[in-house]
Amino acid sequence: LSGKLQETMKKFRGQGRVSEKDVKEMMREIKLALLEADVNFKVVKDFINKISERAVGQDVLESLTPGQQVVKIVHEELIELLGREQSKVTFSSKPPTVLLMVGLQGSGKTTTSGKLASLLRKQGKSPLLVACDVYRPAAIKQLQVVGGQLNIPVFTIENNTNPVEIATEAVKFANFKQHDLVIIDTAGRLHIDEKLMDELLNIKKAVNPHEILLVVDSMTGQDAVNVSQSFNEKLGIDGVVLTKLDGDTRGGAALSVKTVTGKPIKFIGVGEKLNEIEPFFPDRMASRILGMGDVLSLIEKAQDAFDEKQALELEKKMRTMQFTLEDFLEQMQQIKKMGSIGDILGMMPGIDSKALKEINQEESEKNMARTEAIIRSMTKKERNDPSIINASRKKRISAGSGTTVQEVNALLKQFEEMRKMMKMMTDMGKRSKKGGLGR
Ligand code: GDP
Ligand code: MG
Repeated sequence: LSGKLQETMKKFRGQGRVSEKDVKEMMREIKLALLEADVNFKVVKDFINKISERAVGQDVLESLTPGQQVVKIVHEELIELLGREQSKVTFSSKPPTVLLMVGLQGSGKTTTSGKLASLLRKQGKSPLLVACDVYRPAAIKQLQVVGGQLNIPVFTIENNTNPVEIATEAVKFANFKQHDLVIIDTAGRLHIDEKLMDELLNIKKAVNPHEILLVVDSMTGQDAVNVSQSFNEKLGIDGVVLTKLDGDTRGGAALSVKTVTGKPIKFIGVGEKLNEIEPFFPDRMASRILGMGDVLSLIEKAQDAFDEKQALELEKKMRTMQFTLEDFLEQMQQIKKMGSIGDILGMMPGIDSKALKEINQEESEKNMARTEAIIRSMTKKERNDPSIINASRKKRISAGSGTTVQEVNALLKQFEEMRKMMKMMTDMGKRSKKGGLGR
Protein backbone atom coordinates (compact mmCIF):
# COMPACT_ATOMS: atom_id res chain seq x y z
CA LEU A 1 0.00 0.00 0.00
CA SER A 2 2.57 2.50 1.12
CA GLY A 3 4.53 2.56 -2.10
CA LYS A 4 1.58 3.43 -4.27
CA LEU A 5 0.08 5.95 -1.92
CA GLN A 6 3.43 7.52 -1.27
CA GLU A 7 3.89 8.15 -4.97
CA THR A 8 0.49 9.74 -5.24
CA MET A 9 1.15 11.88 -2.22
CA LYS A 10 4.56 12.93 -3.43
CA LYS A 11 3.03 14.11 -6.64
CA PHE A 12 0.65 16.38 -4.81
CA ARG A 13 2.73 17.50 -1.90
CA GLY A 14 5.04 19.70 -3.89
CA GLN A 15 2.38 21.02 -6.18
CA GLY A 16 1.40 24.65 -6.41
CA ARG A 17 -2.12 25.51 -7.43
CA VAL A 18 -4.51 22.68 -8.13
CA SER A 19 -7.88 22.57 -9.74
CA GLU A 20 -10.97 20.73 -8.67
CA LYS A 21 -10.13 18.29 -11.40
CA ASP A 22 -6.75 17.64 -9.79
CA VAL A 23 -8.39 16.87 -6.48
CA LYS A 24 -10.77 14.48 -8.20
CA GLU A 25 -7.89 12.74 -9.88
CA MET A 26 -6.08 12.48 -6.62
CA MET A 27 -9.09 10.89 -4.95
CA ARG A 28 -9.24 8.39 -7.74
CA GLU A 29 -5.63 7.45 -7.28
CA ILE A 30 -5.96 7.13 -3.54
CA LYS A 31 -9.00 4.95 -4.06
CA LEU A 32 -7.15 2.66 -6.44
CA ALA A 33 -4.16 2.44 -4.15
CA LEU A 34 -6.39 1.44 -1.25
CA LEU A 35 -8.40 -1.09 -3.21
CA GLU A 36 -5.26 -2.60 -4.62
CA ALA A 37 -3.99 -3.02 -1.08
CA ASP A 38 -7.03 -5.11 -0.26
CA VAL A 39 -8.66 -2.54 1.91
CA ASN A 40 -12.31 -3.35 2.34
CA PHE A 41 -14.41 -1.79 -0.41
CA LYS A 42 -16.88 -0.15 1.92
CA VAL A 43 -14.10 1.28 4.00
CA VAL A 44 -12.51 2.78 0.91
CA LYS A 45 -15.77 4.28 -0.25
CA ASP A 46 -16.48 5.97 3.06
CA PHE A 47 -12.94 7.17 3.31
CA ILE A 48 -12.90 8.73 -0.14
CA ASN A 49 -16.27 10.39 0.47
CA LYS A 50 -14.99 11.91 3.66
CA ILE A 51 -11.77 13.30 2.29
CA SER A 52 -13.41 14.51 -0.92
CA GLU A 53 -15.94 16.42 1.08
CA ARG A 54 -13.29 18.02 3.21
CA ALA A 55 -10.94 18.69 0.32
CA VAL A 56 -13.58 20.51 -1.66
CA GLY A 57 -15.31 22.05 1.32
CA GLN A 58 -12.27 23.67 2.84
CA ASP A 59 -10.32 26.48 1.31
CA VAL A 60 -8.01 23.94 -0.24
CA LEU A 61 -8.40 25.20 -3.75
CA GLU A 62 -7.67 28.79 -2.79
CA SER A 63 -4.82 27.89 -0.48
CA LEU A 64 -1.24 28.52 -1.53
CA THR A 65 -0.24 24.96 -0.76
CA PRO A 66 -3.28 22.96 -1.78
CA GLY A 67 -1.25 19.81 -2.26
CA GLN A 68 -0.06 19.89 1.30
CA GLN A 69 -3.50 20.76 2.50
CA VAL A 70 -4.93 17.64 0.90
CA VAL A 71 -2.11 15.51 2.29
CA LYS A 72 -2.96 16.89 5.71
CA ILE A 73 -6.61 15.97 5.32
CA VAL A 74 -5.73 12.47 4.17
CA HIS A 75 -3.37 12.14 7.10
CA GLU A 76 -6.03 13.22 9.58
CA GLU A 77 -8.66 10.93 8.13
CA LEU A 78 -6.25 8.02 8.12
CA ILE A 79 -5.67 8.58 11.81
CA GLU A 80 -9.41 8.61 12.34
CA LEU A 81 -9.75 5.38 10.39
CA LEU A 82 -6.98 3.75 12.38
CA GLY A 83 -8.63 4.55 15.67
CA ARG A 84 -7.29 8.00 16.63
CA GLU A 85 -6.11 7.23 20.16
CA GLN A 86 -3.52 4.71 21.21
CA SER A 87 -5.25 1.80 22.86
CA LYS A 88 -3.56 0.03 25.74
CA VAL A 89 -4.13 -3.20 27.58
CA THR A 90 -6.30 -2.55 30.59
CA PHE A 91 -5.00 -4.24 33.68
CA SER A 92 -7.37 -5.61 36.25
CA SER A 93 -7.47 -3.99 39.66
CA LYS A 94 -7.69 -7.52 41.01
CA PRO A 95 -4.62 -9.29 39.63
CA PRO A 96 -3.85 -11.42 37.79
CA THR A 97 -4.90 -9.80 34.56
CA VAL A 98 -5.69 -12.59 32.12
CA LEU A 99 -5.06 -12.14 28.40
CA LEU A 100 -6.39 -14.74 25.99
CA MET A 101 -4.52 -14.86 22.69
CA VAL A 102 -6.59 -16.19 19.81
CA GLY A 103 -6.24 -16.41 16.05
CA LEU A 104 -5.68 -18.67 13.09
CA GLN A 105 -2.75 -21.04 12.81
CA GLY A 106 0.43 -19.29 11.84
CA SER A 107 -0.87 -15.83 12.60
CA GLY A 108 1.78 -15.36 15.27
CA LYS A 109 -0.01 -16.18 18.54
CA THR A 110 2.86 -18.01 20.20
CA THR A 111 5.47 -15.48 19.14
CA THR A 112 3.24 -12.58 20.13
CA SER A 113 2.45 -14.13 23.52
CA GLY A 114 6.17 -14.10 24.26
CA LYS A 115 6.69 -10.63 22.85
CA LEU A 116 3.82 -9.22 24.89
CA ALA A 117 4.98 -10.90 28.08
CA SER A 118 8.39 -9.38 27.62
CA LEU A 119 7.06 -5.94 26.73
CA LEU A 120 4.69 -5.81 29.68
CA ARG A 121 7.37 -7.11 32.03
CA LYS A 122 9.31 -3.98 31.13
CA GLN A 123 6.31 -2.09 32.49
CA GLY A 124 6.68 -3.84 35.80
CA LYS A 125 4.43 -6.85 35.34
CA SER A 126 5.31 -10.37 36.36
CA PRO A 127 3.99 -12.49 33.50
CA LEU A 128 3.13 -16.18 33.28
CA LEU A 129 2.81 -17.80 29.86
CA VAL A 130 0.29 -20.61 29.48
CA ALA A 131 0.50 -23.30 26.82
CA CYS A 132 -3.04 -24.23 25.75
CA ASP A 133 -2.21 -25.36 22.24
CA VAL A 134 -2.32 -28.99 23.31
CA TYR A 135 -2.79 -30.76 20.01
CA ARG A 136 0.75 -30.57 18.78
CA PRO A 137 3.54 -31.33 21.24
CA ALA A 138 5.72 -29.05 19.10
CA ALA A 139 3.47 -26.12 19.94
CA ILE A 140 4.02 -26.47 23.68
CA LYS A 141 7.71 -26.88 23.10
CA GLN A 142 7.73 -23.73 20.98
CA LEU A 143 6.23 -21.65 23.77
CA GLN A 144 8.68 -23.18 26.21
CA VAL A 145 11.57 -22.16 23.98
CA VAL A 146 10.18 -18.62 23.75
CA GLY A 147 9.73 -18.49 27.52
CA GLY A 148 13.22 -19.83 28.00
CA GLN A 149 14.74 -17.17 25.80
CA LEU A 150 12.95 -14.46 27.74
CA ASN A 151 13.36 -16.08 31.10
CA ILE A 152 9.60 -16.08 31.62
CA PRO A 153 7.92 -19.15 33.16
CA VAL A 154 5.63 -21.26 31.01
CA PHE A 155 2.75 -23.15 32.61
CA THR A 156 1.91 -26.59 31.25
CA ILE A 157 0.36 -29.75 32.64
CA GLU A 158 2.08 -32.85 31.40
CA ASN A 159 -0.16 -35.36 29.61
CA ASN A 160 -3.17 -33.13 29.93
CA THR A 161 -4.90 -32.29 26.67
CA ASN A 162 -7.72 -30.27 28.09
CA PRO A 163 -7.04 -26.59 27.44
CA VAL A 164 -9.87 -25.51 29.76
CA GLU A 165 -8.29 -27.33 32.69
CA ILE A 166 -4.83 -26.03 31.89
CA ALA A 167 -6.06 -22.46 31.68
CA THR A 168 -7.98 -22.76 34.94
CA GLU A 169 -5.04 -24.29 36.79
CA ALA A 170 -2.71 -21.67 35.34
CA VAL A 171 -4.73 -18.83 36.81
CA LYS A 172 -4.71 -20.55 40.20
CA PHE A 173 -0.98 -21.05 39.89
CA ALA A 174 -0.49 -17.38 38.99
CA ASN A 175 -2.42 -16.35 42.08
CA PHE A 176 -0.30 -18.58 44.22
CA LYS A 177 3.00 -17.54 42.67
CA GLN A 178 2.19 -13.83 42.57
CA HIS A 179 2.12 -13.46 38.82
CA ASP A 180 -0.02 -10.42 38.06
CA LEU A 181 -0.27 -11.18 34.36
CA VAL A 182 -1.36 -14.41 32.67
CA ILE A 183 -1.01 -14.74 28.90
CA ILE A 184 -2.76 -17.78 27.45
CA ASP A 185 -1.51 -19.06 24.10
CA THR A 186 -4.20 -21.10 22.34
CA ALA A 187 -4.46 -23.43 19.39
CA GLY A 188 -5.38 -22.15 15.96
CA ARG A 189 -6.83 -23.71 12.86
CA LEU A 190 -6.25 -23.01 9.23
CA HIS A 191 -9.82 -21.82 9.00
CA ILE A 192 -12.39 -20.78 11.48
CA ASP A 193 -14.50 -23.73 12.47
CA GLU A 194 -17.05 -24.67 15.05
CA LYS A 195 -14.64 -26.78 17.09
CA LEU A 196 -12.09 -24.03 17.47
CA MET A 197 -14.72 -21.51 18.49
CA ASP A 198 -16.27 -23.91 21.00
CA GLU A 199 -12.93 -24.53 22.59
CA LEU A 200 -12.15 -20.84 22.83
CA LEU A 201 -15.61 -20.10 24.20
CA ASN A 202 -15.07 -22.76 26.86
CA ILE A 203 -11.73 -21.30 27.89
CA LYS A 204 -13.33 -17.89 27.94
CA LYS A 205 -16.11 -19.11 30.20
CA ALA A 206 -13.68 -20.84 32.54
CA VAL A 207 -11.12 -18.09 33.10
CA ASN A 208 -13.11 -14.98 32.24
CA PRO A 209 -10.22 -13.18 30.56
CA HIS A 210 -9.88 -9.43 30.96
CA GLU A 211 -8.96 -9.12 27.35
CA ILE A 212 -9.23 -11.36 24.33
CA LEU A 213 -6.60 -10.30 21.85
CA LEU A 214 -6.97 -11.47 18.29
CA VAL A 215 -3.68 -12.04 16.51
CA VAL A 216 -3.96 -11.33 12.80
CA ASP A 217 -1.41 -11.83 10.05
CA SER A 218 -1.38 -8.56 8.13
CA MET A 219 -0.02 -10.33 5.08
CA THR A 220 -3.31 -12.10 4.50
CA GLY A 221 -4.95 -8.95 3.20
CA GLN A 222 -8.71 -9.01 2.92
CA ASP A 223 -8.78 -12.35 4.71
CA ALA A 224 -7.43 -10.66 7.79
CA VAL A 225 -10.53 -8.51 7.84
CA ASN A 226 -12.94 -11.42 7.44
CA VAL A 227 -11.16 -13.36 10.15
CA SER A 228 -11.38 -10.41 12.51
CA GLN A 229 -15.05 -10.03 11.84
CA SER A 230 -15.81 -13.72 12.49
CA PHE A 231 -13.81 -13.90 15.69
CA ASN A 232 -15.43 -10.75 16.93
CA GLU A 233 -18.94 -12.00 16.19
CA LYS A 234 -18.49 -15.50 17.54
CA LEU A 235 -16.15 -14.96 20.46
CA GLY A 236 -16.03 -11.25 21.09
CA ILE A 237 -12.62 -9.64 21.06
CA ASP A 238 -11.20 -6.63 22.87
CA GLY A 239 -8.37 -5.76 20.57
CA VAL A 240 -6.20 -6.84 17.71
CA VAL A 241 -2.51 -7.50 17.33
CA LEU A 242 -1.43 -7.08 13.74
CA THR A 243 1.65 -9.17 13.00
CA LYS A 244 4.19 -9.26 10.19
CA LEU A 245 3.98 -5.59 9.46
CA ASP A 246 7.69 -5.72 8.74
CA GLY A 247 7.06 -7.02 5.26
CA ASP A 248 5.66 -5.22 2.30
CA THR A 249 2.12 -5.00 3.55
CA ARG A 250 2.27 -1.99 5.73
CA GLY A 251 -1.24 -0.74 5.92
CA GLY A 252 -3.94 -2.57 4.01
CA ALA A 253 -5.27 -4.71 6.81
CA ALA A 254 -4.69 -2.09 9.48
CA LEU A 255 -6.95 0.30 7.65
CA SER A 256 -9.92 -2.04 7.58
CA VAL A 257 -9.74 -3.99 10.82
CA LYS A 258 -10.71 -1.14 13.10
CA THR A 259 -13.61 -0.01 10.94
CA VAL A 260 -15.02 -3.46 10.34
CA THR A 261 -14.78 -4.78 13.90
CA GLY A 262 -14.92 -1.55 15.85
CA LYS A 263 -12.11 -2.98 17.97
CA PRO A 264 -8.79 -1.21 18.26
CA ILE A 265 -5.42 -2.44 17.09
CA LYS A 266 -3.32 -2.49 20.23
CA PHE A 267 0.05 -3.78 19.10
CA ILE A 268 1.92 -4.51 15.93
CA GLY A 269 4.48 -7.24 15.28
CA VAL A 270 7.35 -6.03 13.18
CA GLY A 271 9.68 -9.00 12.98
CA GLU A 272 10.45 -12.49 14.14
CA LYS A 273 12.66 -11.49 17.03
CA LEU A 274 11.04 -11.35 20.43
CA ASN A 275 11.61 -7.64 20.91
CA GLU A 276 10.00 -6.80 17.61
CA ILE A 277 6.66 -5.61 18.90
CA GLU A 278 5.40 -2.07 19.25
CA PRO A 279 2.33 -0.40 20.67
CA PHE A 280 0.09 0.71 17.84
CA PHE A 281 -0.06 4.46 17.34
CA PRO A 282 -2.67 5.50 14.78
CA ASP A 283 -0.93 8.77 13.96
CA ARG A 284 2.39 7.11 13.39
CA MET A 285 0.84 4.44 11.23
CA ALA A 286 -0.87 7.14 9.20
CA SER A 287 2.46 8.91 8.74
CA ARG A 288 4.13 5.70 7.81
CA ILE A 289 1.50 5.00 5.21
CA LEU A 290 1.93 8.48 3.83
CA GLY A 291 5.66 7.99 3.68
CA MET A 292 6.71 10.48 6.29
CA GLY A 293 8.65 7.81 8.06
CA ASP A 294 8.25 6.91 11.64
CA VAL A 295 10.85 9.01 13.34
CA LEU A 296 9.17 8.79 16.70
CA SER A 297 9.24 5.01 16.83
CA LEU A 298 12.86 5.10 15.82
CA ILE A 299 13.78 7.46 18.60
CA GLU A 300 11.82 5.43 21.09
CA LYS A 301 13.65 2.29 20.05
CA ALA A 302 16.94 4.05 20.32
CA GLN A 303 16.06 5.23 23.79
CA ASP A 304 15.14 1.75 24.80
CA ALA A 305 18.50 0.40 23.73
CA PHE A 306 20.72 3.24 24.81
CA ASP A 307 21.48 4.22 28.28
CA GLU A 308 20.17 7.78 28.71
CA LYS A 309 23.49 9.39 29.57
CA GLN A 310 25.32 7.51 26.90
CA ALA A 311 22.72 8.60 24.39
CA LEU A 312 23.14 12.24 25.31
CA GLU A 313 26.87 11.99 24.91
CA LEU A 314 26.48 10.24 21.63
CA GLU A 315 24.02 12.80 20.39
CA LYS A 316 26.47 15.57 21.12
CA LYS A 317 29.21 13.73 19.33
CA MET A 318 27.05 13.07 16.32
CA ARG A 319 25.96 16.66 16.16
CA THR A 320 29.46 18.01 16.29
CA MET A 321 30.75 15.30 13.96
CA GLN A 322 33.20 14.11 16.57
CA PHE A 323 31.83 10.63 16.30
CA THR A 324 34.80 8.32 15.80
CA LEU A 325 35.26 4.77 14.65
CA GLU A 326 35.85 3.91 18.27
CA ASP A 327 32.35 5.16 19.08
CA PHE A 328 31.07 3.42 16.00
CA LEU A 329 32.31 0.11 17.25
CA GLU A 330 30.69 0.66 20.61
CA GLN A 331 27.44 1.78 19.07
CA MET A 332 27.33 -1.15 16.74
CA GLN A 333 26.65 -3.29 19.75
CA GLN A 334 23.81 -0.95 20.70
CA ILE A 335 22.40 -0.88 17.20
CA LYS A 336 22.25 -4.64 17.26
CA LYS A 337 19.97 -4.29 20.27
CA MET A 338 17.66 -1.96 18.38
CA GLY A 339 16.71 -4.66 15.93
CA SER A 340 17.69 -5.42 12.39
CA ILE A 341 19.14 -2.89 10.02
CA GLY A 342 16.11 -3.22 7.79
CA ASP A 343 13.85 -2.19 10.64
CA ILE A 344 15.82 0.84 11.53
CA LEU A 345 15.94 2.06 7.97
CA GLY A 346 12.25 1.31 7.50
CA MET A 347 11.39 3.89 10.10
CA MET A 348 13.42 6.64 8.52
CA PRO A 349 11.70 9.24 6.40
CA GLY A 350 12.49 9.24 2.74
CA ILE A 351 13.30 5.58 2.55
CA ASP A 352 10.50 3.76 0.86
CA SER A 353 9.66 0.13 1.04
CA LYS A 354 10.98 -0.56 -2.43
CA ALA A 355 14.48 0.52 -1.50
CA LEU A 356 14.16 -1.47 1.65
CA LYS A 357 13.37 -4.65 -0.19
CA GLU A 358 16.64 -4.39 -2.01
CA ILE A 359 18.53 -4.54 1.23
CA ASN A 360 19.55 -8.04 1.94
CA GLN A 361 19.13 -8.67 5.62
CA GLU A 362 21.66 -11.44 5.91
CA GLU A 363 24.15 -9.57 3.79
CA SER A 364 23.80 -6.51 6.04
CA GLU A 365 24.48 -8.54 9.10
CA LYS A 366 27.53 -10.13 7.50
CA ASN A 367 28.70 -6.67 6.55
CA MET A 368 28.36 -5.61 10.12
CA ALA A 369 30.58 -8.46 11.28
CA ARG A 370 33.18 -7.57 8.66
CA THR A 371 33.04 -3.94 9.68
CA GLU A 372 33.60 -4.91 13.26
CA ALA A 373 36.65 -6.98 12.31
CA ILE A 374 38.17 -4.10 10.35
CA ILE A 375 37.71 -1.58 13.16
CA ARG A 376 39.13 -4.01 15.66
CA SER A 377 42.27 -4.25 13.56
CA MET A 378 42.88 -0.52 13.84
CA THR A 379 44.92 1.14 16.51
CA LYS A 380 43.19 3.47 18.90
CA LYS A 381 44.80 6.41 17.22
CA GLU A 382 43.49 5.34 13.86
CA ARG A 383 40.00 4.84 15.21
CA ASN A 384 39.95 8.31 16.61
CA ASP A 385 41.37 9.95 13.53
CA PRO A 386 40.77 7.91 10.36
CA SER A 387 42.47 10.59 8.28
CA ILE A 388 45.90 9.22 9.28
CA ILE A 389 45.12 5.87 7.70
CA ASN A 390 47.45 5.85 4.71
CA ALA A 391 48.11 3.11 2.19
CA SER A 392 50.50 1.08 4.33
CA ARG A 393 48.20 1.28 7.32
CA LYS A 394 45.32 0.12 5.13
CA LYS A 395 47.38 -2.86 4.06
CA ARG A 396 48.09 -3.76 7.66
CA ILE A 397 44.48 -3.36 8.70
CA SER A 398 43.11 -5.46 5.86
CA ALA A 399 45.63 -8.20 6.57
CA GLY A 400 44.79 -8.13 10.26
CA SER A 401 41.06 -8.36 9.68
CA GLY A 402 41.17 -10.85 6.85
CA THR A 403 39.66 -8.38 4.40
CA THR A 404 40.92 -6.44 1.40
CA VAL A 405 42.20 -2.89 1.10
CA GLN A 406 39.12 -2.12 -1.00
CA GLU A 407 36.91 -3.20 1.85
CA VAL A 408 38.81 -0.99 4.26
CA ASN A 409 38.41 1.89 1.83
CA ALA A 410 34.71 1.20 1.48
CA LEU A 411 34.26 1.18 5.22
CA LEU A 412 36.05 4.49 5.66
CA LYS A 413 33.91 6.05 2.99
CA GLN A 414 30.74 4.58 4.40
CA PHE A 415 31.67 5.76 7.86
CA GLU A 416 32.03 9.33 6.61
CA GLU A 417 28.58 9.09 5.03
CA MET A 418 27.13 7.60 8.15
CA ARG A 419 28.48 10.45 10.22
CA LYS A 420 26.60 12.83 8.02
CA MET A 421 23.44 10.79 8.22
CA MET A 422 23.62 10.59 11.97
CA LYS A 423 23.92 14.31 12.19
CA MET A 424 20.83 14.60 10.09
CA MET A 425 19.01 12.11 12.27
CA THR A 426 19.80 13.86 15.51
CA ASP A 427 18.72 17.18 14.07
CA MET A 428 15.47 15.59 13.07
CA GLY A 429 15.00 13.92 16.41
CA LYS A 430 15.42 17.22 18.18
CA ARG A 431 12.83 18.85 16.05
CA SER A 432 10.31 16.12 16.67
CA LYS A 433 10.84 16.29 20.43
CA LYS A 434 9.79 19.91 20.27
CA GLY A 435 6.62 18.76 18.54
CA GLY A 436 7.68 19.69 15.04
CA LEU A 437 7.43 17.19 12.24
CA GLY A 438 4.56 19.07 10.75
CA ARG A 439 1.85 17.66 12.93
P1 GDP B 1 0.88 -19.31 15.78
O1 GDP B 1 0.64 -20.57 14.99
O2 GDP B 1 -0.29 -18.37 15.67
O3 GDP B 1 1.25 -19.59 17.20
O4 GDP B 1 2.09 -18.53 15.08
P2 GDP B 1 3.63 -18.49 15.50
O5 GDP B 1 3.82 -17.61 16.67
O6 GDP B 1 4.17 -19.87 15.58
O7 GDP B 1 4.23 -17.71 14.24
C1 GDP B 1 4.18 -18.24 12.92
C2 GDP B 1 5.36 -17.69 12.13
O8 GDP B 1 5.24 -16.29 11.96
C3 GDP B 1 6.68 -17.91 12.83
O9 GDP B 1 7.64 -18.27 11.87
C4 GDP B 1 7.02 -16.55 13.40
O10 GDP B 1 8.40 -16.35 13.54
C5 GDP B 1 6.41 -15.64 12.39
N1 GDP B 1 6.03 -14.33 12.95
C6 GDP B 1 5.25 -14.04 14.01
N2 GDP B 1 5.12 -12.70 14.18
C7 GDP B 1 5.86 -12.12 13.21
C8 GDP B 1 6.13 -10.77 12.84
O11 GDP B 1 5.66 -9.78 13.43
N3 GDP B 1 6.95 -10.59 11.76
C9 GDP B 1 7.48 -11.63 11.06
N4 GDP B 1 8.25 -11.37 10.03
N5 GDP B 1 7.23 -12.90 11.38
C10 GDP B 1 6.44 -13.16 12.43
MG1 MG C 1 1.25 -21.34 18.25
